[in-house]
Amino acid sequence: MGLSAARKIEVVTTVAELRARIAEWRAEGLTVGLVPTMGALHEGHMSLFRQAKMMADKVVVSVFVNPTQFGPNEDFDAYPRKLEEDCFKAKMAGASLVFAPAVEDMYPKGNATLVDVTGPIVDCLCGLARPGHFRGVATVVSKLLLMVLPDVAIFGEKDYQQLMVIRRMVTDLAIPVRIEGAPIHREVDGLALSSRNAYLSDSERANANRLYKSLWQAGQDILGGKRVQDALDWVADELVRLGFGRIDYLELRDAETLAEMDRLDRPARLFAAVFMGKTRLIDNLPVEPRPQ
Ligand code: AMP
Repeated sequence: MGLSAARKIEVVTTVAELRARIAEWRAEGLTVGLVPTMGALHEGHMSLFRQAKMMADKVVVSVFVNPTQFGPNEDFDAYPRKLEEDCFKAKMAGASLVFAPAVEDMYPKGNATLVDVTGPIVDCLCGLARPGHFRGVATVVSKLLLMVLPDVAIFGEKDYQQLMVIRRMVTDLAIPVRIEGAPIHREVDGLALSSRNAYLSDSERANANRLYKSLWQAGQDILGGKRVQDALDWVADELVRLGFGRIDYLELRDAETLAEMDRLDRPARLFAAVFMGKTRLIDNLPVEPRPQ
């Protein structure tokens, strides 16, 4: 994509350059928002940038495919990398700076420090299905927060468990930043936007939205009084029928603690991770009992 000069956003790759630019903004009394991403940006990411821009004067977007959050058999090498397009989209959605470090900048030679959030928030869902994933996420996000020292950082509810892990970490380490969640941005047919959707073939894509539709239906059924386990069994059968592959998890959990729930007696979320072909899709949605 050709970028006209007017549309170019400033890109920095080193921590020194990043800090220098942010120090200038701070000297002018400006506030700073951070949106960490792995790039291959889409409208979901852009909705976070717009939200950040409403909350801070300057928005930093980090673009870094973080090796430590991928398992050995996962898609680190295949993960899409599109920095030039990303810069254009970041600029279009109101960001002021893209921070695109190399692996050596984020993990300097001899690097030996990890941030490990433990306990019930990580011992479920993606924490079980992807061992070590949240250690990688917490490590890279803590580094980014310390590098940028933003007033506010935005994370999508698309990765709801990640948002909870980061809130826990920021509280425990007393990192002085406000963490804000952002709602899931979906295609018109319901599929949650994800950089990994690019892996889907046309026929897989045509059915992928049924994950959201069946979760939504199960949520309605639970609200209508259906037993939670029956609703989850129905979704599992639907997914098999529709050609989905392995189900990593399909569960109703407490929206705050992520404790598993077998009946709807407090605000909950339905969580699913399921394969469509080789692509692992995750999604979640709130299920909130109506006030009596
Ligand atoms: P990623 O690049 O996948 O690491 O995502 C970067 C940030 O964007 C994370 O906070 C994600 O939760 C968020 N995000 C990704 N997809 C969506 C979406 N469809 N709606 C809202 N936020 C999203």
